[in-house]
Amino acid sequence: MARYTEASCRLCRREDMKLYLKGDKCYSSKCPMEKRAFAPGQHGQRRTKLSEYGIQLREKQKAKRIYGILEKQFRSYFEMAAKKRGITGDNLLQLLESRLDNTVYRLGFASSRKEARQLVLHGHFTVNGKKVNIPSYLISEGDLIQVAEKSKKSDKFKAVVESTSSKVTPKWLEVDFDKLEGKVVALPTREDIDLNIEDHLIVELYSR
Ligand code: SF4
Repeated sequence: MARYTEASCRLCRREDMKLYLKGDKCYSSKCPMEKRAFAPGQHGQRRTKLSEYGIQLREKQKAKRIYGILEKQFRSYFEMAAKKRGITGDNLLQLLESRLDNTVYRLGFASSRKEARQLVLHGHFTVNGKKVNIPSYLISEGDLIQVAEKSKKSDKFKAVVESTSSKVTPKWLEVDFDKLEGKVVALPTREDIDLNIEDHLIVELYSR
C-alpha cells in the first residue's frame, strides 16, 4: 500500500510546523523543530514569498502529511467531500478524521497516526466485533472499536496506553482503557478537530 516514506521530521520542517508524526518524540526536547525550525536542504533558511497557488499547495501538503495520505487518495476524499451536503472544507476534514487509523490514534491506542496505521494493518482492531485491517476504513457514529482479543495481552498496548492515557480524548469519542475499547459518540465536527489547517485553501486549490 502506498504511503509517505520521506523522513517524518523533514516533513515538519518543510511545512514549518509540528505535524506530530513521531509519537512521544514530538512532545520532547528531541523534536528537531525545537532547534531547527526551518525547511530542510541547502536553501532551507532562505525566506521565500509564496504565491497564492504556493500557499494553497502548502496547505494541502500539510493536511496530506498529517494524515499520511498520498495525492490520489486525498483527491478522492476531496471529491467525496464536495458531493456531500454542507461546507466542502468541513466535510473534507471530517472524512480524514473519520479514518480508522486516525480514530485509533485519537483514542490513544497508538502514539502517532503512523503507528496506528501499522497496528490496524496488522489486524489488532475490531469494529463492532469484526476484524478490520484497512486504515482508510471510515468509522460511523455508534461504532465500537476494540483492541482484538488476541492483542489485548500484548505489552505493546500496555506501554502505548500508559504513554497516551493522560492525553485528552476528543469529545466525539469515548474511551475505556481498561477494556481497551472506544466508542464513536458522534462523527467529528470541524470544531472538534484541533488542527491548524486552513481547509478553505485546499478547496480553492482543487477548484482552480
Ligand atoms: Fe515533527 Fe514529531 Fe519530528 Fe518534531 S519529532 S519534527 S513534531 S515528526
